[in-house]
Amino acid sequence: MSFIRTVLFDIPPSELGVCYAHEHVIIDPGIPTWTNPDFLLDSVETAIEELRAFHGAGGRAVIDSMPCDAGRNAIKLAQVARGTGVHIVAATGLHLPKYYHPGHWGNEYPAHKLLRLFVEDIEEGIDTHDYSGPILERTPYRAGVIKIATGETITAREERALTAAAQAHVATGCPILTHTEQGRLALQQIGHLRREGVDLKHVCLSHTDRNPDVGYHRDILATGVRVEYDSGFRWKQADGNPTLDLCVELIPEFPDQIMLGMDAARRTYWTSYGGSPGLTFLLTQFTEQLKDAGIPDDLLHRVFVTNPAATFAFAEPAAP
Ligand SMILES: [Zn+2]
Repeated sequence: MSFIRTVLFDIPPSELGVCYAHEHVIIDPGIPTWTNPDFLLDSVETAIEELRAFHGAGGRAVIDSMPCDAGRNAIKLAQVARGTGVHIVAATGLHLPKYYHPGHWGNEYPAHKLLRLFVEDIEEGIDTHDYSGPILERTPYRAGVIKIATGETITAREERALTAAAQAHVATGCPILTHTEQGRLALQQIGHLRREGVDLKHVCLSHTDRNPDVGYHRDILATGVRVEYDSGFRWKQADGNPTLDLCVELIPEFPDQIMLGMDAARRTYWTSYGGSPGLTFLLTQFTEQLKDAGIPDDLLHRVFVTNPAATFAFAEPAAP
């Protein structure tokens, strides 16, 4: 039986509901927030307030996209999930090197050691100290997605992380969420994961809408991979809304492969911190814009409900 692993418990995919495919519910202090204090989303109370508004607009689930030791906090994610009734999927995996200090284990470990850490997050529970200290104390809160990232080029470090993520997927069935830098290197990510035996139906590439070339998107989607667009509120007015344009063009053509998120990893985006547009944006303004552009309700249901349920369900793991 397939399932989705939320931070609190496993659920049948049919229970996921309206889902944002790339969010940041909690970001604790660390290198990302020292680099940019606007990334600091460390308050459980504020996250509860923001997710209550999301729930009020019809939202039921979010994929939290913060992997190991870059501000992840499984205990806080569990508190927010309990406090709101919103399903939160927590991530294992590794982010870009700029979010870690130079000597960090993520820069040094071979793929087989990364694999072990990822699989233990998925099967046993995320460390209380988020793999930042020598003594592990695993929480009962498990990871339900593997997040990996590539930057301007795919470095040896990123190849190790891609390999470890792929092998963790094959071993456990856990889905994969990738960061692309401005949409770059999507086909290279896909090629690497496919060579390692990953089922692309359980892979979601993030931020590909930052490169709004329709032909590029058709090449990506032709592989069977899923994508997540999250810049619908970011474009400057003078640029129009290329994310909306991509949705209107491609959702009818690839109805089973496109999802939406906000990747709203800044205080200045959350209403509860006094920012805008708030996590309700996709379910209010953006949904209205999609409807006005002719996207019917049944396709919106696939984007927000059916596709996340299928993508973030665990695949059958390989026989041991
Ligand atoms: Zn993100």
